[in-house]
Amino acid sequence: MSQHHRRTKHTTHAPKVREQIAARLPLPCVECGHPVHAEQSWHVAHIVPASQGGRTTISNCGPAHSICNLKSGGRMGAAVTNRRRRAVRDSGEGIRKW
Ligand SMILES: [Zn+2]
Repeated sequence: MSQHHRRTKHTTHAPKVREQIAARLPLPCVECGHPVHAEQSWHVAHIVPASQGGRTTISNCGPAHSICNLKSGGRMGAAVTNRRRRAVRDSGEGIRKW
């Protein structure tokens, strides 16, 4: 057995970050860019996604309208990637006839 006693601080719930953001409202929504007001329903959203090494800190988090946050759900990125891939195919890249 290997000794794996590393304590990884993986706090998905960061109430402090939410508090800090709440204190600064209104701030632009991470998703749509429109201001998020304290009286609106909002979530803490990552600017750099956690999957890309983003941390749950005040510098990497901002408010997102709960609607915007639910809409994004990581799908946007896939859609953009697909569109880009298709655009490359349409432009004839890769099917070059010399
Ligand atoms: Zn929004």
